[in-house]
Amino acid sequence: MDVRINVETTTEAGEKRKQQIIRFKLPGQCHGDLGLKLEHSKVLLAQLQLAIIQHQIEEISDASRSCPCCGRTMPIHDYRTRVLDTLFGRFPLRVPRRKCFCRRGKGGSLSPLSQVFRDRVTPELKLLQAEMGARHSFREAARILETFLPCAKQHNTTVRNRLGKVAKAIADEAPPICESQKSHPLTVFIDGAHVRCRPEYQKRHLDVVVGKKETHEMCRRLGLSPQAATSPVSQIRRDLDALGWDERRPITVISDGKAALPNLIRNAARGKVRHILDWWHISMRVKHVENAISGLVQRKDFPGTTAILMTPVESLRWNLWHGKAQTVGTHLQWLMDDCARLAKYDLAVRDQAQRALSRCQYLHSYLANNRGSLINYGWRYRRGLPISTSRAEGCVDDIGNARMGKRRRMRWSPEGAHNVAVARAAALDGRLTVFDTTMAA
Ligand SMILES: [Zn+2]
Repeated sequence: MDVRINVETTTEAGEKRKQQIIRFKLPGQCHGDLGLKLEHSKVLLAQLQLAIIQHQIEEISDASRSCPCCGRTMPIHDYRTRVLDTLFGRFPLRVPRRKCFCRRGKGGSLSPLSQVFRDRVTPELKLLQAEMGARHSFREAARILETFLPCAKQHNTTVRNRLGKVAKAIADEAPPICESQKSHPLTVFIDGAHVRCRPEYQKRHLDVVVGKKETHEMCRRLGLSPQAATSPVSQIRRDLDALGWDERRPITVISDGKAALPNLIRNAARGKVRHILDWWHISMRVKHVENAISGLVQRKDFPGTTAILMTPVESLRWNLWHGKAQTVGTHLQWLMDDCARLAKYDLAVRDQAQRALSRCQYLHSYLANNRGSLINYGWRYRRGLPISTSRAEGCVDDIGNARMGKRRRMRWSPEGAHNVAVARAAALDGRLTVFDTTMAA
């Protein structure tokens, strides 16, 4: 079969053009498959793209032929060759420049297409490179792009650099106008991930802050490296604005005990932020105390009375769940006194008592350090309000570990980790595909 594909374009001024872009033969005998192959489609798309772009350049150049100063028609001065990288191929293009000799035009030449060729890449290709680079290793992203698209040869460094530019554009982006007028409370789940650092930075790990901001209607992921972000606080502030947050709305931050993370939100919101200590982290520490004490009392040679230790331990979780932090403090004090007494004598249970004591001390100081962030978890839970950072823990995996985890055996610079975290959060939100293309140009 002989296949000819023609393209017909009509400009807004009504100029029509018809052009044959490709002609090929398909075998008359069926060899087990029908239709176009990937290779055919790549050639076809590349030729189609070239034909359309060439006609577009002429249309834009014709449309802007009148001088912005005197209004007279400017003749074409010369042609420059400009290379444009697109999703469907890299083309050297002849771009006309026009010139006017009026006094205000000062004889300088004008290229109406200079905006398009500034980056030498179309915004769509740049965003796709960023999205693929955020989801896969840079080398793998380059391979996937080359496999399915007739784009020019892709290098891992090009993918990395384009991702960096897109991440910077996201960080500088003005927040989209939020249409929701309702004042829903905003909850921020925030956590930290560790990424292996490149040896020249003289440290083992980099911190990456990950999280999720949620209202009833919307959610937005967050990823940044505080060491590399120009201003983490203003980046968070922009994210809050994108969710339609205003200063009157309450913000609840749920995180584990580190003060730095809620403080980031506090600085961004410049106002009162309520911090809640994550229930999962508390529950895990209570479990450690329970295990240590029950291991101690279950020993055959345990010299004390079981109930003295077990009664306060069994009530720890219930009291914390119902927001009775004071009672928990007292019970932990009793437990620490009893364990210290057992650990003092040279008994067979001394090591076990010592371990129970250190776990009680750890829980006690953890709760004391976060006293202001303990709440009545049961009350919140019954009203369907979040009490744990489980959603941020998901972000640790999605944003941090999936691309930069220890298993990937890659080491990162602070800037590289920051760019990937920003782009990956945007890719997972679907923000890279609906991204305003005029901005990335
Ligand atoms: Zn002029």
